[in-house]
Amino acid sequence: MELRLYDTLTREKRPFVPLDPNNVRMYVCGPTVYDFAHIGNARPVIVFDVLFRLLRHRYGAEHVTYVRNITDVDDKINDRAARDFPGLPLNEAIRKVTEKTASQFHADVTALGCLLPTFEPRATDFVLPRADGKADMVTLIRQLIARGHAYEAGGEVLFDTQSMPDYGALSGRKLDEQLAGARVAVEAHKRNPADFVLWKQSTENEPGWESPWGRGRPGWHIECSAMSAAYLGNVFDIHGGGVDLIFPHHENEIAQSRCAHGTPTMANYWMHNGFLEVEGEKMSKSLGNFFTIHELLADWPGEVLRLTMLKTHYRSPIDWTLKSVEESARTLDDWYRASADVRSGKPAASVLEALADDLNTAQMLAALHGLRNSDTGALAASLRFLGFLSESNAQWEGRRQTASGVDADRVNALIADRAAARARKDFKESDRIRDELAAMGVVLKDGKDAEGKPVTTWEMA
Ligand code: AMP
Ligand code: ZN
Repeated sequence: MELRLYDTLTREKRPFVPLDPNNVRMYVCGPTVYDFAHIGNARPVIVFDVLFRLLRHRYGAEHVTYVRNITDVDDKINDRAARDFPGLPLNEAIRKVTEKTASQFHADVTALGCLLPTFEPRATDFVLPRADGKADMVTLIRQLIARGHAYEAGGEVLFDTQSMPDYGALSGRKLDEQLAGARVAVEAHKRNPADFVLWKQSTENEPGWESPWGRGRPGWHIECSAMSAAYLGNVFDIHGGGVDLIFPHHENEIAQSRCAHGTPTMANYWMHNGFLEVEGEKMSKSLGNFFTIHELLADWPGEVLRLTMLKTHYRSPIDWTLKSVEESARTLDDWYRASADVRSGKPAASVLEALADDLNTAQMLAALHGLRNSDTGALAASLRFLGFLSESNAQWEGRRQTASGVDADRVNALIADRAAARARKDFKESDRIRDELAAMGVVLKDGKDAEGKPVTTWEMA
């Protein structure tokens, strides 16, 4: 199986060659923890979980290191802490907000069938030099200043974009163009309008750390440069996130990491998932089409949401619609019925090959549909490999029926009554019961079991 991945930096799909097949290293930007994550945030988590699973399959689970950070220092967090816990000292209030939000995030993405990353560092643990000597933000900033890539001005430390000849390569923005288009004198302390903050001062009402540049806090981008280096080294294999992160976040991560370490690359493959829209519109609170993962999980099993996400190729925009979610639910009902109780088999080559082609999940789904009618053992194993079929068929059906508001015990009792009526040839009564069930939205399917005895299964219309 040759794995091929699309790299945003070189704008080509090419064979994936790890730096070290015994330690394949991937970093994905994680959530800023101030509120429930929305369904758009679930997209990178699910997409890179599938890639993580594929890499583990290809190189062995113990040979893949996946780091996804938690951003727990951010002005949105400060605002939320002040609003929700006005009586508490700021640091305590912040800790309450970030811990609660991080555990909600974990519950959400676990329900979506995602594995835990190998490491999940929190930004606030990587601001100051550490006892274990792992990379930290203050040391990185000092290195950047020492190498002539950063300067102090106006109480901030800024990255000097002009000190890096190929700044802008990831997003394809040229510094000259940025200069020409820049508004004049917006931030007079910057040497160049594109220069960005590495460190800024904190007021008393903002979280801060004592640093060589006074009490302050880091800029956003430097976090990921520090945490990726801490766990994956100065150069690693894959860096991922949503397309909105290409500029400025990833562009600036590259600038910081390469200039601090003096390396020609930061990561060999830059992967970006497309954006998620809802019913054809940008998701926004004001449009009323904004959904948290938590809200959707109240209505749908996480596997239904997971499947809905994978129907679209990760690099394309995805239009999240109720129709698509309902269709995924029906597909999973069918797959559960066909294969959830099958324990033999291994993931199908057709499924793995589709994924190996830059995570071609549309082709993967076609392969799964093909297996549905030819090899339920391979279907079951493939689905488990992909993070589905976490329950037995009975559990799944019970859950789906509860979700649809129908009392499964009552349905089963009526089905037993109907079978008894049919056995005594009282077809008037059996038809009456069928109609009663139909009025509840329950559709019956009469068939035979393996021994040829009549069985009746049911599903919601
Ligand atoms: P944030 O908490 O906004 O930094 O986002 C966390 C992750 O979710 C990043 O990788 C973003 O690119 C991604 N993301 C945010 N909104 C969307 C969206 N609507 N569709 C897809 N990905 C998104
Ligand atoms: Zn990042």
